[in-house]
Amino acid sequence: MRLRNIPGSREVIGASEYVIHDMETAKGRWSEIFGNDGPIYIEVGMGKGKFITQLAVENPDKNFVGIEKYSSVLLRALEKREQLKELKNLYFLRMDAEDLEKVFENGEVAGIYLNFSDPWPKDRHAKRRLPSKQFLDRYDKILVSEGKVEFKTDNQDLFQFALEQVKEAGWRLEQCTFDLHKDSKMMEGNIMTEYEERFSAQGNPICKMIISR
Ligand code: SAM
Repeated sequence: MRLRNIPGSREVIGASEYVIHDMETAKGRWSEIFGNDGPIYIEVGMGKGKFITQLAVENPDKNFVGIEKYSSVLLRALEKREQLKELKNLYFLRMDAEDLEKVFENGEVAGIYLNFSDPWPKDRHAKRRLPSKQFLDRYDKILVSEGKVEFKTDNQDLFQFALEQVKEAGWRLEQCTFDLHKDSKMMEGNIMTEYEERFSAQGNPICKMIISR
């Protein structure tokens, strides 16, 4: 998702109390930032933030960080966040997820969500795909030992690619479905993302995997 550049979006983000600006000094200090020792979950490529915002509302005892590369998209998440001032467990980062290890200490993250990640269809861009082995290696460092990655998409090619990468990276496939909305067990507590609403309304089945090391 890349919205048209919105004039002033960088300034709004720069002034927001909900965005962590001094990213590299946050590394190893996330419990201090949240003011509690609760587990920290991140969504990589959150888009407009519907999923992680709802997750934060439903789980006040857990902490959440939404990560998005583009200011114009993050701005939309901030607009929702502004309506929920009482929420203390949700911050955002505007950054490229390639730098995750600069922002999170080893074992600082309890779980990672990837939702409808960009497919990067050209082979030469495979390492930019968020469920690629290169990214799994990054997640491996920042995740607690029992931490899981949950990945949803309607893109069958990307899902197949992710299944191969899980094997290649030596991760374990814990749960998997090729039609999430018809799988009552995996649907329990499911929060729809913006893309999930759009593509499931078009009749596309949604694939989901939960993986661990
Ligand atoms: N997760 C949302 C959903 O399901 O509705 C948005 C999906 S959208 C297709 C993918 C989002 O991931 C885009 O907003 C894009 O800017 C962001 N993104 C892609 N690669 C990224 C990266 N390396 N670091 C941070 N964000 C990234």
